[in-house]
Amino acid sequence: MGLFRRRRAVLADDWEAIVERAVAHWAHLDDDERDQMADLIEGLVTTKRWEAAQGFELTDEVRTVIAAQAALLVLGLDAGLDAYHDVGSVIVHPSTMRFRELAEGPAAGTVVDGDVDLLGQASYGGPVVIAWDAARRGARHPEHGHDVVLHEFAHKLDMLDHLVDGTPPLPDADARQRWIDVCTRELELLRAGEGGHLLDPYGATNPAEFFAVATEVFFSRPEELERHKPELYDVLRAFYRQDPAERVRRHRFER
Ligand SMILES: [Zn+2]
Repeated sequence: MGLFRRRRAVLADDWEAIVERAVAHWAHLDDDERDQMADLIEGLVTTKRWEAAQGFELTDEVRTVIAAQAALLVLGLDAGLDAYHDVGSVIVHPSTMRFRELAEGPAAGTVVDGDVDLLGQASYGGPVVIAWDAARRGARHPEHGHDVVLHEFAHKLDMLDHLVDGTPPLPDADARQRWIDVCTRELELLRAGEGGHLLDPYGATNPAEFFAVATEVFFSRPEELERHKPELYDVLRAFYRQDPAERVRRHRFER
């Protein structure tokens, strides 16, 4: 279903079959959203530099699946792909990156995720680094609530105002204050071990990680987040201008 009116000259012929098979979110999107997604995916595949690390081979599937998840994040934003203007390249490792030495710590402005086992990385003014095995797992199994692609690209949205502080650019002072109030309260609950079962404790690291972890759950387990943390769901819905819980319900009704 969902044949597009335009041919996609740049994407692989079977790109839509790839996302249908590999990206669970795709099933919830309507035809208009899929059309927009196609433009975004094509833009990401063509305008970003894609690099394979450690002898890994970049395939159409790798590029398409990662681009589709990154595209989902900006589907409702006016900026569209401009929100990723700072993403020069996407570097894909075959699997979880293991580092023996973290003593020096990350460079300034760098967010490193996964401690010694690194699933991904997003640097201010630098690339997004993704472990393919984690990306593939997250795309297929949103029910686990983990998605490294959503996580790292959320860091890039956070960095749009040149601060890695867990608060992306918001339309006005009221929206910003509400964001800070809600996220600070939830971060404190998580730090106190009272954050509930949905948000990974890693989100307690700092406000930037909280936003990235909350974004993973917002898109991956939206109905549960809406039920258990309605205020957090609400500020994320207002920022992303998407209602993934409603999308899941609509899909269930239509099926
Ligand atoms: Zn992170």
